[in-house]
Amino acid sequence: MAAVLVVEDEPGVADAVAWALRRDGLAVTVCATLAAARAAGTAFDLAVLDLGLPDGSGLDLLRAWRGGASCCQLPVIVLSARDGEVDRVLGLELGADDYLVKPFSPRELAARVRAVLRRARPVPAPAPADGLVIDSEARRAIWRGRALDLTRYEFRLLACLAERPGRVFSRAELLDLVWEDPGARFDRTVDTHIKTLRAKLRAIEPARDPLTTLRGEGYAWRDGDG
Ligand code: CA
Repeated sequence: MAAVLVVEDEPGVADAVAWALRRDGLAVTVCATLAAARAAGTAFDLAVLDLGLPDGSGLDLLRAWRGGASCCQLPVIVLSARDGEVDRVLGLELGADDYLVKPFSPRELAARVRAVLRRARPVPAPAPADGLVIDSEARRAIWRGRALDLTRYEFRLLACLAERPGRVFSRAELLDLVWEDPGARFDRTVDTHIKTLRAKLRAIEPARDPLTTLRGEGYAWRDGDG
């Protein structure tokens, strides 16, 4: 049974949402504040997140989930009474998967939840057990049959390199291709992320290093080199 976290402070809305989702066979946990939602954690299959909460904006929680080293890919549907373009765009930019403006019908929300859950489900790719599988839509990577726990930029870096095996990317190219926000870049950004990514790959298969460093040139993904 999929588990859904509903963060909503209006009891009437929370009840209607919980009712519609439970009718769909989902397990529902309701939190009325940001503090309660933080305490509930992220071990859910999806979150329905109201923006106007008594102790702050749902966008802060979304930002915390999506940012930083502990980047959390929990699918999120944002709810808001405000139909302001800024909130909608900000929500989506922060990584919300969908957005619903109040008032909405519980039936519509349930349909959106089903759609997002369907998209988030890992694609059962019949990939070779010893290769790298990248599911860009779900932002998941599997190396040698085991899921990699990657930050957002580690994932993007890996996907970029592995998309064209053998192709050498310079640091400048990788910065342009992977880091869309210039504010997130600093001198050693690429090297630092390569290092942590390599450590995660090696934790699964110590003897193998498909992330090849070419001195003075850049980096390449070279699986099969041993
Ligand atoms: Ca509210």
